[in-house]
Amino acid sequence: MRILVVEDEVRMAALLKRGLEEDGYAVDVATDGPEGLWYATENPYDTILLDVMLPGMDGFEVCKRLRAEGCWMPILMLTAVDPVQERVRGLDVGADDYLTKPFSFAELEARIRALTRRVKVPRPTVLEVDDLRLDPSTHQVWRGDTELDLSPKEFALLEFLMRHPGQVFGRTQIIEHVWDFEYEGISNVVEQYISYLRRKLDQPFGKNSLETVRGVGYRLRKG
Ligand code: CA
Repeated sequence: MRILVVEDEVRMAALLKRGLEEDGYAVDVATDGPEGLWYATENPYDTILLDVMLPGMDGFEVCKRLRAEGCWMPILMLTAVDPVQERVRGLDVGADDYLTKPFSFAELEARIRALTRRVKVPRPTVLEVDDLRLDPSTHQVWRGDTELDLSPKEFALLEFLMRHPGQVFGRTQIIEHVWDFEYEGISNVVEQYISYLRRKLDQPFGKNSLETVRGVGYRLRKG
């Protein structure tokens, strides 16, 4: 794990470098804005600690330019004054998090861990409708505490409906969203998959969450 510290205060920079190296990070230090920008675009850092008040170019500008150049490594802004205003500005220019000086080293370490975790495992929110839960990142579905075993297509259909609970969709709309290309297979494919889903997520639990709306289509009841 490689970290870039952009900080012009020598003692602070040395303290951060030493502390982070003791934790096993590789640490580079840049002491002004332009140098920080150069380091950050030339090397693959896992996280950047970016001071706001810097000579040459302030931290906001460094952050903004990095994002404009397509550098998406996590950036933790280190702010000194007027935290609320700086926090807002930092987030507006694309920083991921901020920490107000003075801060404890333990908190800094925790923030760095959180930031790098976020990057490694992007986890979309788990969808919830009634007691159904669906995790798009792990492809798991539960009814209450029971995990359901769905085929990839069944999963895709349920995910689509769970993203729009209560809304009615016609067959064509469902095919367009779930089958993802101009489907030319069997005409009753939607009916078929709705019935597969009912067998797995409704019937065993005495539920009726997948409704047929006559002449219109299908909907997943909200609860
Ligand atoms: Ca400074």
